[in-house]
Amino acid sequence: MSNHTVQCPFCFKESPHGVKICTVCHAKVVYGECPVTVAILFGIAVMLLAYFAGSWTENFIVSVIVFFGSIFILKYQLKKVYADRILFIQRD
Ligand SMILES: [Zn+2]
Repeated sequence: MSNHTVQCPFCFKESPHGVKICTVCHAKVVYGECPVTVAILFGIAVMLLAYFAGSWTENFIVSVIVFFGSIFILKYQLKKVYADRILFIQRD
């Protein structure tokens, strides 16, 4: 698949990258969405990280900073990783 076109898995129509809806079957096209399972796993990882940071330093503030800092960094990283991920959602 080239970077400039996206192919619909339902009707196999090639559309320019950036279209929001397939022109043939009207499937919705979504870009850069991270899978729910990945989001949940990262959520658990961030909570554990914050918990351990808090218990090591015995400082609640540190754990809060680690929690929000990790979420901020992960959100940015996930957006980069899944920027090229394209989802087609078919409507009835
Ligand atoms: Zn289509």
